[in-house]
Amino acid sequence: MTSSTETAHVSPAKSASTLKSAVLAQRALAERLFATLANGSQGNPGIMRDTFGPGENFAHGVLTDFAAEAGLAVSKDFAANTYVTWRGSEPNAPRILMGSHLDSVPHGGNFDGAAGVIAGLVVIEALRSLGVRPRRDVTVMGVRAEESVWFQVSYVGSRSALGRLPDGALEAKRIDNGKSLAAHIAECGGDPDAIRRRERHLDPATIRAFLEVHIEQAPSLVESHLPLAICSGVPGNFRYPNARIVGRHDHVGTPRRFRHDAAMAGAELAMTLDRIWEEEEKAGVPLAVTFGRFHTDAAAHGMTIVPGAFAFSLDVRAYDAAVLERVEKQMLAAIAGIEARRRVTFELGARASAAVGKVDPAIVAALEAGAARHDIATMRLGSPASHDSAAFAEAGIPMAMLFVRNEHGSHNPMEAMEIDDFLAACTVLADWVAAEVT
Ligand SMILES: [Zn+2]
Repeated sequence: MTSSTETAHVSPAKSASTLKSAVLAQRALAERLFATLANGSQGNPGIMRDTFGPGENFAHGVLTDFAAEAGLAVSKDFAANTYVTWRGSEPNAPRILMGSHLDSVPHGGNFDGAAGVIAGLVVIEALRSLGVRPRRDVTVMGVRAEESVWFQVSYVGSRSALGRLPDGALEAKRIDNGKSLAAHIAECGGDPDAIRRRERHLDPATIRAFLEVHIEQAPSLVESHLPLAICSGVPGNFRYPNARIVGRHDHVGTPRRFRHDAAMAGAELAMTLDRIWEEEEKAGVPLAVTFGRFHTDAAAHGMTIVPGAFAFSLDVRAYDAAVLERVEKQMLAAIAGIEARRRVTFELGARASAAVGKVDPAIVAALEAGAARHDIATMRLGSPASHDSAAFAEAGIPMAMLFVRNEHGSHNPMEAMEIDDFLAACTVLADWVAAEVT
């Protein structure tokens, strides 16, 4: 912190109650922005901010309109991410990025993603109201395409901005209309060729940190009666979105030794992974295994037919790259055994993965100290979900996240975040930003 500043303002970091009051005074702004977003992206039921579609575009428009109204600078990058910047006095000082995604799952809730963007705006407005003149830029990023349900690709907006979108991702098709990601990006004013060339809009060396406020997706904070958690890590994953097992359709009376039962093979793999998960959990290693799709072939299955085809998707997530590697190796070994014993073939198809997102210990400690200063009780919590912040961490940018209590889970219309809890997160974030910009 500089002591030679000529401005007369009281440093908000030094005056906890002043800072907290300034954040709480932004309640009406936060409520208005959440309401505007909800009204313009109704999904009947829930919210529909479809990735690179009208819903997400609307949300980016809300962000742009707010910036114009507030006199903040707006820019876009070649993935059509939106940046709203409060300019600092030292152009070469690494800037602070806050933000989250503005898309939603189909029929999702209003807070997953949007809370992180609105939190950034609340922080800027609170600090401006105190007369703070930042020495470094403070930017709110509305990130595109975080919800991988649409294109089955994770972190599209953040990784594109960082020049790290994997090869082939731009050719992924949106699940509901079959149009490519590249075509969608171009339609929204982006430049898929720049992404393909791995051009970098965000240079990690110029970014002090990325901070993301997000609602919690599980009810841990409700259970603990706490408004807020400081993230201890974002899980990485490996995924097989379109795996198949090929066996042979046979008569229901076929003796076991002649069968090529694809469904039993799928069941055996699921139980094997469940057992591996249970063992890891017993050893204190957090892990999650999910077969999101798990089915026989509806065009050929029937009560009196041995299933000759089986399809599934698989997502395995953990907070440690070595754990992911170990589990995947065990899985591949199990598959080889199942194939030999059950006379079937696994076609795992495309594999996707995301790196584990490590939080910055110094920022975590500072956020905890800030929360304590403002009498906001917190706990540390491993994120159950993937977040853009992991992509920033992977690129070498210091990262931290704040989770806000949320009653009914996320990815559904019933998300229930209280504005009081949201403003508590904004207070802790504003405290950190104030100390970094003054
Ligand atoms: Zn989210």
